[in-house]
Amino acid sequence: MRIIGPEDFALHPRLAADTLPVGDLPLCRVLLMGDARFPWLILVPRRPGLREFGDLPAEERAALMEEICTASRALQDETGAEKMNVGALGNAVAQLHIHVVARSSGDAAWPGPVWGSGAAEPYRSGLDEALADRLAAAFGFRRGGPAGRTPETAAFARSLMTPSDFAKSAATLGFAHNALDRLANRRDDDAFQAETAASPAARTVAVIGDTVAVKRDAGGAMDLWFGFDAAAEIGPLGQRVFLGIDARGPAYAVQVEAEGEDPLAGRDGLAAFNLRQVAADGSVAATDLGALAEGKSMLSWHATHRFCGRCGSETASSPSGWKRLCPACGAHHFPRTDPVVIMLAVDGDRCLLGRQPRFPAGMYSCLAGFLEPGETIEDAVRREIGEEAGIACGAVSYLGCQPWPFPSSLMIGCVAEAASTEIAIDREELEDARWFSRDEVRAMLDGRHPDGLTCPMPMAIAHHIVLAWVGEG
Ligand SMILES: [Zn+2]
Repeated sequence: MRIIGPEDFALHPRLAADTLPVGDLPLCRVLLMGDARFPWLILVPRRPGLREFGDLPAEERAALMEEICTASRALQDETGAEKMNVGALGNAVAQLHIHVVARSSGDAAWPGPVWGSGAAEPYRSGLDEALADRLAAAFGFRRGGPAGRTPETAAFARSLMTPSDFAKSAATLGFAHNALDRLANRRDDDAFQAETAASPAARTVAVIGDTVAVKRDAGGAMDLWFGFDAAAEIGPLGQRVFLGIDARGPAYAVQVEAEGEDPLAGRDGLAAFNLRQVAADGSVAATDLGALAEGKSMLSWHATHRFCGRCGSETASSPSGWKRLCPACGAHHFPRTDPVVIMLAVDGDRCLLGRQPRFPAGMYSCLAGFLEPGETIEDAVRREIGEEAGIACGAVSYLGCQPWPFPSSLMIGCVAEAASTEIAIDREELEDARWFSRDEVRAMLDGRHPDGLTCPMPMAIAHHIVLAWVGEG
């Protein structure tokens, strides 16, 4: 039997124009016809120059019949159709292609054939993509590859920025750079932990509630690191977490109990800053921000996981601070990170930005939302854009990510290809959302937009997603 592999196959342009690709079975490309009146698949054997069934070698004729049956069953299961119509005509498009059409009494042509019956009606936005996704799942393949990507249109692929475009500017991304060796394999080594914590080189960030203690010198430079003794002078020390080690020695984060709205007021050279202020200030080393994010997220986890989720007893931290142990039922509890998708929907030379009521006046940003359990990144991106702005999306690409310690998220930056253009805003989430041209976004990034509109600052991932898109134009 001939090996079925890459070959010099090209889809007839008319078939490509009328359909949405679902995926490839071993022999055939499967297409969804763009006519919402009839759920309708087209199978095209991926063999160049093929016109008639008889042109196929005998074993491939059998494979084709199997694939027609597979497609027919999947479409019938998906639609609950009463009858499947299967046919090959090929008078207008000679390339061999087989129609598999789901029919039901009361459909637009019933009981006649679908051919020559009225004009095709396009699917409402995104519904064809959704049907194609479900059919692909029924065939046992993910559309366009293992990560749930739908095929990109050529125009989107051309306009797409890549992780390397994103990385060009991401040096200024806050909390994303961490130079510590976390020594995860030594976290359960209690003797190592005790010795390391007693090292004279040990240093710690001092976290006070939602703020962090900062030393400021006369020149305004910030320093986040304290010896344990110096941290204890601020207030009683609470939970401690081992962050890792570098050439300077072991690094920690420690919770410090201190009272009042501004607990370090009046302390010479000391201030309590929130993490956004520290990241935006720019005078702290980028790698210190990564360590700070690690420590702040870990301490937030300890603060909210004092009791066992299994039996309700009070739990205790391990010496390294990387797990909590339940003395009553023996459960081990580990820290969690919450994934958030943050994405730019792109329609040709326009992108979709929105604003939440809490944003600074005039600022527009990428849409974002939490990933849900059991959901791929790609599906979360499409769902969030659909929910917040009513825009259906097809292909989704990953750009880069950012730890976001408020309290413990990972922002996953993506770009998505818009499949519809009419915006319907969810007013619970957004105050406004609209399409922006590249020139307009460029002006927003440069601070010269005529209406004073702006984009998020360089410490935020949204800035770099938008910048990568603009830079590509
Ligand atoms: Zn327990």
